[in-house]
Amino acid sequence: MTTRSSQTDYLVVGAGAMGMAFTDALIDHADVHVTLVDRRHAAAGQWQDAYPFVQLHQASLFYGVASTVLGTGAVQQDGPESGLQERARRSEIQHYYDDLLYRRFVGSGRVSFLGASEYHTDGPSHLVTSRVSGETTVVDVRRRVVDASYLSPAVPATTPPPFGVADGVPVVAVNELARLDAAATTYVIVGSGKTATDAIVWLLGNGVEADRIVWVRSRDPWMLNRAVVQPDPAVALELAADTMTAADGAGSLDEVFLRLEADEVMLRVDSDVVPTMAKTPTLGTWELELLRTIERVVRLGHVQHVSTSEIVLEHGVVPLPEGALVVHCAASGLQYPPLVPLWGPDAIRIQTIRAGFPCFNAALAGFVEATRDDDRERNRLCPPNTFPDSLVTWARMQVWGTVAMRRYGAEPDIAEWTNGCALNPARIDPSRRDAPEVRAAAARLADVAEAGLTRLADLAGEPLN
Ligand SMILES: Cc1cc2nc3c(=O)[nH]c(=O)nc-3n(C[C@H](O)[C@H](O)[C@H](O)COP(=O)(O)OP(=O)(O)OC[C@H]3O[C@@H](n4cnc5c(N)ncnc54)[C@H](O)[C@@H]3O)c2cc1C
Repeated sequence: MTTRSSQTDYLVVGAGAMGMAFTDALIDHADVHVTLVDRRHAAAGQWQDAYPFVQLHQASLFYGVASTVLGTGAVQQDGPESGLQERARRSEIQHYYDDLLYRRFVGSGRVSFLGASEYHTDGPSHLVTSRVSGETTVVDVRRRVVDASYLSPAVPATTPPPFGVADGVPVVAVNELARLDAAATTYVIVGSGKTATDAIVWLLGNGVEADRIVWVRSRDPWMLNRAVVQPDPAVALELAADTMTAADGAGSLDEVFLRLEADEVMLRVDSDVVPTMAKTPTLGTWELELLRTIERVVRLGHVQHVSTSEIVLEHGVVPLPEGALVVHCAASGLQYPPLVPLWGPDAIRIQTIRAGFPCFNAALAGFVEATRDDDRERNRLCPPNTFPDSLVTWARMQVWGTVAMRRYGAEPDIAEWTNGCALNPARIDPSRRDAPEVRAAAARLADVAEAGLTRLADLAGEPLN
């Protein structure tokens, strides 16, 4: 195979949501050249392999890159989410990233894209090998290597089921639901997260009766009411105030979540079960109503093995109905690698900084990379955060995220940029700053912020200094 060489300022590994958001903010604020590499043939990362009926779980405005709004910013006018912001579907997300990559990035001459290519190293050399031609390019990186795959999620289409499957048992990844040749008698949904809830809502929406669905969930999830995660500063401030009010004086994290449920912030499917899972995707209340129609729920721990006649779980065995299809929705999704400084000696590792919202965080890292020249200062402004999984990690994420927001928000140029960035869920549009509902929510938050944050930190086992 031939070997070529090329030069670039930044070698960004991963053209998923985080690599795209970082690159976009970087080239907008620094005169640099970026080489973007992905083993997938196109941009968008996991959205290329996600199930066909997936939709963003929150507003399109919060997703994508800072320079270019995804969607129209419109509020839905009809349907079960009337009054809430539109949410893009998979095809729209793919198109958005495709357009960005070729028109804005490559078209500018400042970004080269090496698709269908694997990044690897050989000693100090940065190599990119085409999975198609086999050709290897040695990339001379003048400034930084950026690992934008550090939080790359695991999805069912590319991750085998985490349980054994006997020969001849119909177990399919969730994607296959949209490509069935024949209807199953029963759909056995294995998973507790957003993919599972999406699959059930989609099946019910396609006329499958609730009693033909068995939901195997090893944990019960807390989910955020989509109505409280909207690009509106009054809604965002009320959410923060509700969260801190719920934490203030709470005896446990369970109590925090139960208080938030009473405030219609958090949702759970079964009011008799206190959830232990808190990845907290957003859910519409119309979806919650549909999920509650499923009565055949199996709570016997993780599935270990599926045979032609039964499902063996950690704490018991249930029969597999004749003609059933087992649907794998059990990939881990969000990842929780060790938290490391974003700016490391060998690479920039893109992680979240404020709570949630990976696109905003990656864009913020791009902005800070472009506008600061000292890694210690960059790391001070942008400490790494975790994605949530349990109640404890959710609380940690809130605490660390609040501390980080205060740090980077104290820098006038960053504050100005974040406040103009649609991806930022905490953005307060200047035109709304003096609106009575925004002022009232801000005052409510100010009253409880310190006490709530201190209590949340204690409950998270991360006391504030
Ligand atoms: C089904 C689903 C729905 C979601 N919905 C939302 C949502 O509505 N809102 C939200 O904020 N978040 C959502 N998330 C969270 C999700 O983590 C992010 O939205 C996002 O898509 C993840 O992007 P990423 O760039 O971190 O990872 P990826 O999309 O996985 O991108 C990383 C890329 O790196 C490439 N790569 C890795 N290693 C190499 C290598 N050595 N060489 C070359 N290329 C490499 C991979 O091919 C991949 O394309 C969702 C996640 C899932 C799974």
